[in-house]
Amino acid sequence: AKGNGRNRLEYFSDEQARELRDQDLIERALRVSLQQNYFSLVYMPMFDCQTLEIVGLEVLVRAENLQRLGIGPDRFIPIAEKTNLIKEIDLWVIDNAMARLVELQAATGFMGKFCINISGVELCNELFPAKVKEIIDSHGVDPCLIEFEITETAFVLDDIKSRTILSELRNLGISLALDDFGTGFTAFSQLINYPADCLKIDRSFVNDLFSVDVARHKMVRIIEDLAELYGLRVVAEGVETKEQLEYLQEIGCDWVQGYYLSLPLPWHEMLSLISPPASV
Ligand code: C2E
Ligand code: CA
Ligand code: CA
Ligand code: CA
Repeated sequence: AKGNGRNRLEYFSDEQARELRDQDLIERALRVSLQQNYFSLVYMPMFDCQTLEIVGLEVLVRAENLQRLGIGPDRFIPIAEKTNLIKEIDLWVIDNAMARLVELQAATGFMGKFCINISGVELCNELFPAKVKEIIDSHGVDPCLIEFEITETAFVLDDIKSRTILSELRNLGISLALDDFGTGFTAFSQLINYPADCLKIDRSFVNDLFSVDVARHKMVRIIEDLAELYGLRVVAEGVETKEQLEYLQEIGCDWVQGYYLSLPLPWHEMLSLISPPASV
């Protein structure tokens, strides 16, 4: 019978029990990845919407031992956040991204931005800005070349702590992007108070650009108009077709990224994409 209290798992359905085991497994795999350095980075080019020049790279983390099981950051980052492993992962990503940025600049003279995803958890972590500064300084990187992407929902502006952390990051010279913009609950009138430089339109809106649901397909244009009003750069992600790209060019979006333009690339592929052709 269920719930006799002898076995904790009896309180859960089979489905829930499996979910718990999976989470536990992923947590252990993440710990191993941190110890054994199984994490790696891939780079997704971001393009100027009009000229299609590469103007930035979004850094995306992979855990090699989980990737083989088809488990990507969408699945493991939330677990890392629950178990507090995220703090170590975020610092690992920043440190390794900075090392690559230095290498890339030396090899190609690349002056675009490195855009790094940061968990909303860091906005409650008073130690974060000082750690970031320490890492940046140790690599001698110009902070103007760094952008942190933080999901819109993590920007809780009525919280003094997160406000302080955001402005400390910004004072270092790092720019800030509101990621997955449009999925949260930002009162648009509040945008002017955000310490942000960029709105990153969520992929779902780009996906619905030609949807019959008028309210959804208009979102992209509405966000673009707003961003213009507040002087924010607009990045559209998830561009998968020529039609989507052309529409975004028409409405004056600033940057684009998506499978139509480039997949996320491993380091060496990215390097040869950015390298100027060898002069003859
Ligand atoms: P995100 O920040 O929204 O990143 C974009 C995700 O959408 C990436 O998946 C990317 O591969 C995918 N994507 C980009 N363009 C397209 C497209 O045209 N079509 C489709 N179908 N997908 C596209 P990925 O790498 O699996 O990352 C998932 C999420 O995991 C990210 O969402 C981000 O929230 C989180 N994440 C990734 N790397 C890191 C990291 O280093 N640190 C932290 N804290 N979170 C990360
Ligand atoms: Ca992102
Ligand atoms: Ca997104
Ligand atoms: Ca614009």
